[in-house]
Amino acid sequence: MKFWKLEKPDYDSDYDSEYINGGLDHPFGLPGINCDSCGETWSGSRILSIECPEILRNDCCIKDGWPITFEKFSELEKRVSTMVVTNFDLKPGDRFQPSYLDVASKPEADFLWSSIGSVLVSERIKNFFEQYSRTDIDFAKVIKRHIGKNKAHLPAPIPESGEPEDIMEKVEFVENLNEVNDCYEMIIKHESKHPLFTKVKSICDKCKRENIDNESRLLLMTDELWNEHTIFLLSTTLYIIITDDLKIKLEEIQPTNIRITDITKKS
Ligand SMILES: [Zn+2]
Repeated sequence: MKFWKLEKPDYDSDYDSEYINGGLDHPFGLPGINCDSCGETWSGSRILSIECPEILRNDCCIKDGWPITFEKFSELEKRVSTMVVTNFDLKPGDRFQPSYLDVASKPEADFLWSSIGSVLVSERIKNFFEQYSRTDIDFAKVIKRHIGKNKAHLPAPIPESGEPEDIMEKVEFVENLNEVNDCYEMIIKHESKHPLFTKVKSICDKCKRENIDNESRLLLMTDELWNEHTIFLLSTTLYIIITDDLKIKLEEIQPTNIRITDITKKS
Protein backbone atom coordinates (compact mmCIF):
# COMPACT_ATOMS: atom_id res chain seq x y z
CA MET A 1 0.00 0.00 0.00
CA LYS A 2 1.07 3.59 -0.59
CA PHE A 3 1.01 6.49 1.86
CA TRP A 4 1.31 10.21 1.22
CA LYS A 5 2.48 13.13 3.33
CA LEU A 6 0.57 16.42 3.22
CA GLU A 7 2.86 19.42 3.61
CA LYS A 8 3.55 23.04 2.94
CA PRO A 9 4.64 23.74 -0.65
CA ASP A 10 7.99 25.43 -1.35
CA TYR A 11 7.85 29.21 -1.45
CA ASP A 12 10.29 31.70 -2.93
CA SER A 13 11.09 33.02 0.56
CA ASP A 14 10.19 32.80 4.26
CA TYR A 15 8.35 36.10 3.76
CA ASP A 16 6.01 34.48 1.23
CA SER A 17 5.39 31.58 3.60
CA GLU A 18 4.61 33.94 6.48
CA TYR A 19 2.49 36.20 4.23
CA ILE A 20 0.31 33.36 2.93
CA ASN A 21 0.01 31.20 6.06
CA GLY A 22 0.38 33.57 9.01
CA GLY A 23 0.24 32.09 12.49
CA LEU A 24 -2.40 30.35 14.58
CA ASP A 25 -2.42 31.00 18.31
CA HIS A 26 -3.86 28.57 20.89
CA PRO A 27 -3.68 30.70 24.03
CA PHE A 28 -5.26 28.11 26.33
CA GLY A 29 -3.80 24.73 27.21
CA LEU A 30 -2.18 22.54 29.80
CA PRO A 31 1.36 23.45 30.83
CA GLY A 32 4.39 21.21 30.45
CA ILE A 33 5.96 19.20 33.25
CA ASN A 34 9.22 19.85 35.02
CA CYS A 35 9.91 16.35 36.37
CA ASP A 36 12.17 15.89 39.39
CA SER A 37 12.60 12.19 38.64
CA CYS A 38 13.94 12.15 35.04
CA GLY A 39 15.02 15.80 35.22
CA GLU A 40 13.28 16.66 31.93
CA THR A 41 11.12 19.69 31.23
CA TRP A 42 8.74 18.63 28.52
CA SER A 43 5.32 18.87 26.90
CA GLY A 44 3.57 17.30 23.94
CA SER A 45 2.22 19.18 20.94
CA ARG A 46 -1.28 17.77 20.77
CA ILE A 47 -4.14 20.03 19.74
CA LEU A 48 -7.62 19.13 20.97
CA SER A 49 -11.00 20.09 19.55
CA ILE A 50 -12.25 20.71 23.09
CA GLU A 51 -13.22 24.28 24.06
CA CYS A 52 -11.38 25.65 27.06
CA PRO A 53 -14.01 26.14 29.81
CA GLU A 54 -14.61 29.88 30.43
CA ILE A 55 -13.79 29.50 34.09
CA LEU A 56 -10.24 28.34 33.29
CA ARG A 57 -9.37 31.06 30.80
CA ASN A 58 -7.90 33.36 33.45
CA ASP A 59 -6.12 30.58 35.32
CA CYS A 60 -2.41 31.33 35.07
CA CYS A 61 -1.50 27.64 34.58
CA ILE A 62 -3.81 27.43 31.55
CA LYS A 63 -3.03 30.85 30.10
CA ASP A 64 0.74 31.17 30.19
CA GLY A 65 1.75 27.54 30.27
CA TRP A 66 5.00 27.66 32.27
CA PRO A 67 6.07 24.12 33.15
CA ILE A 68 4.98 22.90 36.59
CA THR A 69 5.90 19.96 38.80
CA PHE A 70 4.42 16.52 38.17
CA GLU A 71 2.41 16.77 41.41
CA LYS A 72 0.91 20.14 40.42
CA PHE A 73 0.20 18.86 36.93
CA SER A 74 -1.66 15.83 38.28
CA GLU A 75 -3.85 18.07 40.45
CA LEU A 76 -4.55 20.40 37.54
CA GLU A 77 -5.29 17.51 35.18
CA LYS A 78 -7.82 16.10 37.67
CA ARG A 79 -9.52 19.47 38.05
CA VAL A 80 -9.69 20.12 34.29
CA SER A 81 -10.93 16.59 33.57
CA THR A 82 -14.04 17.25 35.63
CA MET A 83 -14.87 20.24 33.41
CA VAL A 84 -14.36 18.80 29.92
CA VAL A 85 -15.67 15.68 28.25
CA THR A 86 -13.00 13.34 26.85
CA ASN A 87 -12.59 9.64 26.36
CA PHE A 88 -8.81 9.90 26.81
CA ASP A 89 -6.34 11.25 29.39
CA LEU A 90 -5.17 14.82 29.13
CA LYS A 91 -1.42 15.25 28.62
CA PRO A 92 1.17 17.96 29.30
CA GLY A 93 1.09 20.60 26.56
CA ASP A 94 -2.42 19.76 25.26
CA ARG A 95 -3.90 22.85 23.55
CA PHE A 96 -7.61 23.74 23.74
CA GLN A 97 -9.90 25.71 21.47
CA PRO A 98 -10.52 28.42 20.48
CA SER A 99 -7.62 29.34 18.23
CA TYR A 100 -6.91 32.78 16.74
CA LEU A 101 -5.58 33.42 13.25
CA ASP A 102 -3.28 36.33 12.41
CA VAL A 103 -2.29 36.48 8.75
CA ALA A 104 -1.02 39.37 6.64
CA SER A 105 -2.98 38.42 3.51
CA LYS A 106 -6.60 37.44 2.92
CA PRO A 107 -6.87 33.65 3.22
CA GLU A 108 -8.08 32.13 -0.03
CA ALA A 109 -6.07 28.91 -0.25
CA ASP A 110 -7.54 25.50 0.59
CA PHE A 111 -4.77 24.73 3.08
CA LEU A 112 -3.03 27.16 5.43
CA TRP A 113 0.10 26.01 7.23
CA SER A 114 -0.34 28.31 10.21
CA SER A 115 0.13 25.87 13.05
CA ILE A 116 2.58 23.11 13.91
CA GLY A 117 0.72 19.84 14.38
CA SER A 118 -2.46 20.83 12.59
CA VAL A 119 -3.47 22.58 9.40
CA LEU A 120 -6.23 25.04 8.50
CA VAL A 121 -8.58 24.22 5.67
CA SER A 122 -11.27 25.95 3.62
CA GLU A 123 -14.94 25.04 3.83
CA ARG A 124 -14.78 22.85 0.72
CA ILE A 125 -11.81 20.87 2.04
CA LYS A 126 -13.58 20.45 5.37
CA ASN A 127 -16.58 19.04 3.48
CA PHE A 128 -14.28 16.68 1.58
CA PHE A 129 -12.72 15.22 4.72
CA GLU A 130 -16.09 15.05 6.47
CA GLN A 131 -17.27 12.88 3.64
CA TYR A 132 -14.30 10.49 3.53
CA SER A 133 -12.57 10.68 6.93
CA ARG A 134 -15.34 11.55 9.36
CA THR A 135 -14.12 9.47 12.30
CA ASP A 136 -10.44 10.33 11.89
CA ILE A 137 -10.72 14.11 12.15
CA ASP A 138 -12.29 16.86 14.23
CA PHE A 139 -12.76 20.40 12.98
CA ALA A 140 -12.74 23.60 15.00
CA LYS A 141 -13.72 26.95 13.50
CA VAL A 142 -10.88 29.43 13.80
CA ILE A 143 -11.42 32.94 15.17
CA LYS A 144 -10.14 35.47 12.63
CA ARG A 145 -8.17 38.06 14.63
CA HIS A 146 -5.89 40.17 12.41
CA ILE A 147 -6.35 39.59 8.68
CA GLY A 148 -4.52 41.60 6.01
CA LYS A 149 -6.46 43.31 3.19
CA ASN A 150 -4.42 42.16 0.21
CA LYS A 151 -4.59 38.91 -1.68
CA ALA A 152 -1.73 36.48 -1.17
CA HIS A 153 -0.51 36.34 -4.79
CA LEU A 154 1.09 39.79 -4.47
CA PRO A 155 4.77 39.68 -3.42
CA ALA A 156 5.12 39.62 0.36
CA PRO A 157 6.18 42.92 1.97
CA ILE A 158 9.59 42.79 3.66
CA PRO A 159 9.58 44.19 7.20
CA GLU A 160 12.38 46.53 8.31
CA SER A 161 13.52 44.07 10.97
CA GLY A 162 14.02 41.42 8.30
CA GLU A 163 12.06 38.95 10.46
CA PRO A 164 9.23 37.23 8.56
CA GLU A 165 6.97 37.30 11.68
CA ASP A 166 7.08 41.13 11.60
CA ILE A 167 5.21 41.23 8.28
CA MET A 168 2.04 42.04 10.25
CA GLU A 169 3.48 45.50 10.99
CA LYS A 170 3.55 46.37 7.28
CA VAL A 171 -0.03 45.59 6.31
CA GLU A 172 -3.50 47.09 6.56
CA PHE A 173 -6.13 44.90 8.15
CA VAL A 174 -9.62 43.99 7.02
CA GLU A 175 -12.18 45.90 9.08
CA ASN A 176 -15.19 43.70 8.45
CA LEU A 177 -14.03 40.17 9.22
CA ASN A 178 -17.30 38.74 7.86
CA GLU A 179 -15.97 39.30 4.35
CA VAL A 180 -13.07 36.92 5.03
CA ASN A 181 -13.53 33.21 4.22
CA ASP A 182 -14.00 30.97 7.24
CA CYS A 183 -11.13 28.61 8.09
CA TYR A 184 -11.26 25.41 10.09
CA GLU A 185 -8.50 23.82 12.08
CA MET A 186 -8.23 20.19 11.05
CA ILE A 187 -7.38 18.16 14.12
CA ILE A 188 -5.99 14.75 13.34
CA LYS A 189 -7.06 12.28 16.00
CA HIS A 190 -4.91 9.22 15.38
CA GLU A 191 -1.30 8.14 14.98
CA SER A 192 0.54 5.31 13.30
CA LYS A 193 2.62 2.87 15.30
CA HIS A 194 6.16 4.03 16.13
CA PRO A 195 8.32 4.33 12.98
CA LEU A 196 10.70 1.48 12.14
CA PHE A 197 13.92 1.42 14.20
CA THR A 198 12.48 3.71 16.90
CA LYS A 199 14.54 3.09 20.01
CA VAL A 200 12.77 3.91 23.27
CA LYS A 201 15.80 4.43 25.51
CA SER A 202 13.79 4.73 28.72
CA ILE A 203 10.37 5.62 30.11
CA CYS A 204 10.21 7.77 33.25
CA ASP A 205 8.45 5.91 36.09
CA LYS A 206 6.95 9.10 37.35
CA CYS A 207 5.93 11.35 34.43
CA LYS A 208 5.85 8.51 31.83
CA ARG A 209 7.90 10.48 29.32
CA GLU A 210 9.36 8.25 26.62
CA ASN A 211 12.99 9.07 25.93
CA ILE A 212 13.33 8.30 22.22
CA ASP A 213 16.47 8.15 20.10
CA ASN A 214 15.33 10.37 17.22
CA GLU A 215 18.34 9.54 15.07
CA SER A 216 17.59 5.87 14.60
CA ARG A 217 14.02 6.27 13.29
CA LEU A 218 13.16 5.61 9.67
CA LEU A 219 10.58 8.26 8.87
CA LEU A 220 8.69 6.31 6.24
CA MET A 221 5.38 4.44 6.31
CA THR A 222 4.83 0.72 5.88
CA ASP A 223 1.69 -1.41 6.08
CA GLU A 224 2.82 -2.71 9.50
CA LEU A 225 2.76 0.78 11.01
CA TRP A 226 -0.72 1.54 9.77
CA ASN A 227 -3.63 1.59 12.25
CA GLU A 228 -6.26 1.65 9.49
CA HIS A 229 -7.07 5.34 9.59
CA THR A 230 -7.49 7.34 6.37
CA ILE A 231 -5.56 10.29 7.80
CA PHE A 232 -3.20 10.22 10.78
CA LEU A 233 0.10 11.48 12.16
CA LEU A 234 3.28 9.44 11.85
CA SER A 235 3.95 8.60 15.50
CA THR A 236 6.78 10.61 17.18
CA THR A 237 6.52 13.22 14.37
CA LEU A 238 4.00 15.83 13.22
CA TYR A 239 3.86 14.43 9.68
CA ILE A 240 0.29 14.38 8.34
CA ILE A 241 -0.21 11.18 6.33
CA ILE A 242 -3.09 10.02 4.12
CA THR A 243 -3.83 6.76 2.37
CA ASP A 244 -3.54 6.27 -1.37
CA ASP A 245 -7.32 6.11 -1.78
CA LEU A 246 -7.80 9.43 -0.10
CA LYS A 247 -4.93 11.04 -2.00
CA ILE A 248 -6.50 10.12 -5.35
CA LYS A 249 -9.84 11.61 -4.31
CA LEU A 250 -8.20 14.74 -2.88
CA GLU A 251 -6.24 15.42 -6.07
CA GLU A 252 -9.47 15.25 -8.08
CA ILE A 253 -10.69 18.44 -6.41
CA GLN A 254 -7.34 20.22 -7.02
CA PRO A 255 -6.57 21.68 -3.60
CA THR A 256 -4.34 24.76 -3.39
CA ASN A 257 -1.33 25.61 -1.21
CA ILE A 258 -0.32 22.02 -0.55
CA ARG A 259 2.34 19.53 -1.58
CA ILE A 260 1.60 15.81 -1.49
CA THR A 261 4.70 13.58 -1.39
CA ASP A 262 5.21 9.84 -1.33
CA ILE A 263 6.28 8.63 2.13
CA THR A 264 6.05 4.91 1.52
CA LYS A 265 9.05 2.73 2.32
CA LYS A 266 10.22 1.05 -0.88
CA SER A 267 10.50 -2.68 -0.36
ZN1 LIG B 1 9.91 12.19 34.42
